[in-house]
Amino acid sequence: MPIATVNPATGETLETYDALAEEEIERRLATAAAAFRTHRTTTFAERALRMNRAAGLLEEDEQEIARVMTTEMGKPVRQARAEAAKCAKAMRWYAEHAEELLADEEPAEYDVKDSGAAWVIVRYRPLGPVLAVMPWNFPLWQVVRFAAPALMAGNVGLLKHASNVPRTALYLEDLFRRAGFAEGCFQTLLVGSGAVEGILRDPRIKAATLTGSEPAGRSVASVAGDEIKKTVMELGGSDPFIVMPSADVERAAEVAVTARGQNNGQSCIAAKRFIVHTDVFDTFAERFTARMKALRVGDPMEEETEVGPLASRQGRADVEELVEDAAARGAAVLCGGARPDGPGWYYPPTVLADVTPQMRIHHEEAFGPVATLYRAAGIDEAVAIANDSPFGLSSNVWTHNGTEVDRFVQDLEAGGVYINGMTASHPAFPFGGVKRSGYGRELSGHGIREFCNITTVWHG
Ligand code: NDP
Repeated sequence: MPIATVNPATGETLETYDALAEEEIERRLATAAAAFRTHRTTTFAERALRMNRAAGLLEEDEQEIARVMTTEMGKPVRQARAEAAKCAKAMRWYAEHAEELLADEEPAEYDVKDSGAAWVIVRYRPLGPVLAVMPWNFPLWQVVRFAAPALMAGNVGLLKHASNVPRTALYLEDLFRRAGFAEGCFQTLLVGSGAVEGILRDPRIKAATLTGSEPAGRSVASVAGDEIKKTVMELGGSDPFIVMPSADVERAAEVAVTARGQNNGQSCIAAKRFIVHTDVFDTFAERFTARMKALRVGDPMEEETEVGPLASRQGRADVEELVEDAAARGAAVLCGGARPDGPGWYYPPTVLADVTPQMRIHHEEAFGPVATLYRAAGIDEAVAIANDSPFGLSSNVWTHNGTEVDRFVQDLEAGGVYINGMTASHPAFPFGGVKRSGYGRELSGHGIREFCNITTVWHG
């Protein structure tokens, strides 16, 4: 894929970029290694000062960077501004909490004595330069939720961003530089995915994090495994959204539309499979479909737009194929299902019912505003359908029955269970999945410790 800014609302190529030459990649790796030697010795207070400055600058730039994101990947500009604001919040959160999250730990006195030591501490030391391979769907947030904890822990970052968001990628490098982080603490590498293996095998790179598709994850995790380097993988999702009879069905249908339609339907934690108890199925299906149909699709630069174009021609083709396959195998298309004429990679909000395991969409991630509806006779069937997926990122459950809540929390195969609300990441809570959705956690104390050398210091 060429490195280029292509407006998904028009299909027009606005700017193309040359990939970095070998010597330039080498220079940047050397700069990262040098930067780490100094950055690791800075205090938490010094890092926090810079991180808070980055947050302030990002807030000042909010309008402008939101328009850049919308131009590059088509999200409604209002959602782009919200993304920038969320990034600033996460930066401040890590600036405030990193020191306490990485404070030395003292094992129990009994165990210290038992080991024959005078004292023992566990210290979280940084690992070094970390490679981040990131996707275009939340082009700021995906990077910041890696970069804020990494820089606060004393690591340095190298970003290989998706090839369709080069302007956002370059903005991020500039942001951390303006905030006062020394040269090399955070660098953007404009390279194609073919260059990733060589960079990852370089001994100066100590670990990698990837957010994106399963094939990309498998490729990076295999190389890192071969090099015995730590990775965090945040891959796809096909989150269930379960509605039980005791739920507020009206509210569930309203939130379901946001959960599915956010970011033009291109979110790993979007609810994608709507599993509804048979007692409330018809009501939910009717309310949900009416609201999906009513979403305002249009120019993502318009304030009122709720759904813009998909990010790429290929992305739309992938979604179309999944819907056509389902329809051909007997799914009912309750709304949408056909691309509009005209420029841009638009795809309408679509609801499919009567989905069966023979359809590709039952097992694959639909990365666009396409919802599938399932009818469940009871909680056993709801859990079984929810878990009948290769993915396990997050899950949503609507019920006011405490026994059902316990059951879902016990049995849903996912990295999150959100009850009477939709999945949304927050800096203080761990984020990540199980099964083919990946491993490791981002955000919270768990996220910042992923790229630390957890060191036992034993003193006799
Ligand atoms: P990719 O997974 O291909 O891209 C994500 C990042 O990985 C990009 O930086 C990409 O670089 C890089 N990459 C891709 N292949 C490799 C590789 N073999 N080795 C190293 N790096 C690689 O996502 P796509 O944009 O192609 O989207 C395809 C599908 O992936 C979507 O339809 C969706 O299902 C899923 N996806 C999930 C996301 C999530 O948030 N979980 C985010 C994005 C996509 P480059 O751009 O240069 O190819």
